[in-house]
Amino acid sequence: MELHTPFTFGQRVGNGTLFDLSAYLSQANAWLSTGRNTMPYQAEYIWMDGHQPTPMLRSKTKILDNSVKTPPIWGFDGSSTEQATGDRSDCMLLPVFTCPDPLRGGKNILVLCEVRLAQTGEPHPTNTRAKCAETAKKFAAHQMIFGIEQEYTMMRTNGRPFGFPEEGGEPGPQGPYYCGVGAGRVMGREIIEEHTWACIEAGLMIEGTNAEVMPGQWEYQIGAADALTVSDHLMVARWLIERIAEDHDVVISLAAKPQKGDWNGAGAHTNFSTKAMRSSYEAIEAACEALSKRVDQHVNNYGHDIESRLTGKHETAPYNKFSFGVSNRGASVRIPWQVARDRKGYAEDRRPNANCDPYVVTQLLLDTVCSNEKTPAKAAAKKPAGKKPAKKGKKK
Ligand code: ADP
Ligand code: MN
Ligand code: MN
Ligand code: MN
Repeated sequence: MELHTPFTFGQRVGNGTLFDLSAYLSQANAWLSTGRNTMPYQAEYIWMDGHQPTPMLRSKTKILDNSVKTPPIWGFDGSSTEQATGDRSDCMLLPVFTCPDPLRGGKNILVLCEVRLAQTGEPHPTNTRAKCAETAKKFAAHQMIFGIEQEYTMMRTNGRPFGFPEEGGEPGPQGPYYCGVGAGRVMGREIIEEHTWACIEAGLMIEGTNAEVMPGQWEYQIGAADALTVSDHLMVARWLIERIAEDHDVVISLAAKPQKGDWNGAGAHTNFSTKAMRSSYEAIEAACEALSKRVDQHVNNYGHDIESRLTGKHETAPYNKFSFGVSNRGASVRIPWQVARDRKGYAEDRRPNANCDPYVVTQLLLDTVCSNEKTPAKAAAKKPAGKKPAKKGKKK
């Protein structure tokens, strides 16, 4: 009988440890003694709950037979996730994005789900992805793409920032920590290293990472891709960092202003472009003008406690005063200098909080920017219907 090996020898699994062949073999032989000849695998179903003011991620594990190729629809008890009442507690988990599980390794997978109503299959009120999908479809011709810079702050389980001395008091003021290197300047590196590898192994569109301005604050970027892809990948990346930090007894906070005082807040700068913006500076300015007309609608949906973060200090613009400018990190929307030089590219909405819902943010940007743009002509229809192309040489 042939063993189906879920790991390659020496593969990093779980908490960065190397795959242990003898432990695997004893597990596999125990399984074989049950009389079946293939190992099942694990699917971790991930979804957003109904917690207010900021939803949290939840997940649970389904064991799938080796013959199952696509993870099936599943369910959960919504009365325990603030998504249902006890008498009608069942909610549906509809798989929408699947990738390899880099922590369990092998055939195991992560399964991101939309929450649907068990009775009808309609999107649950907490399901923001369904509306994003609708808007993305409506404006598909604009080919809008996004890159999200996810900042976060590591905290101890007692609620103190991980970058602050364990014994109490505050570290030296901000300055040396951003993109820093060396003990005393950088805290939690082993967690972000593990997370970065996990994202790469899962096939997520992670683009880079950096230490942030406040000690123990970090960033990774995901993109650039369409609204649903970037948001799905970001959700899985968020789940992975929480799962990895759990092994280190570190809490990942997406709070907009995790520490009061002269400490930076945490954002999720959202870079965006349409096809038109990628070829014309006028389209970039037009997008900024469109955003200037819907300030409240955006800011009110960019994450809880945005007014504590967007104060006008710490590289932000005041939340209630819209501005845009080239290279300006004190503006609501920044146009990078290379974009101004090239007269084409993208813009960066600096307002979304670290705790924003990416489906909501990208949905709003799609709606505001694309409804203000002319709908691009359908791409390359082979021959214009009805009208014959003008014959060459007709006019002499
Ligand atoms: P900074 O820290 O200087 O603001 P980052 O390097 O952290 O910038 O992030 C830049 C982001 O811009 C990345 O997420 C990237 O995907 C995104 N981006 C680059 N080009 C485009 C584009 N044409 N459309 C949308 N996003 C883009
Ligand atoms: Mn950045
Ligand atoms: Mn940053
Ligand atoms: Mn940025």
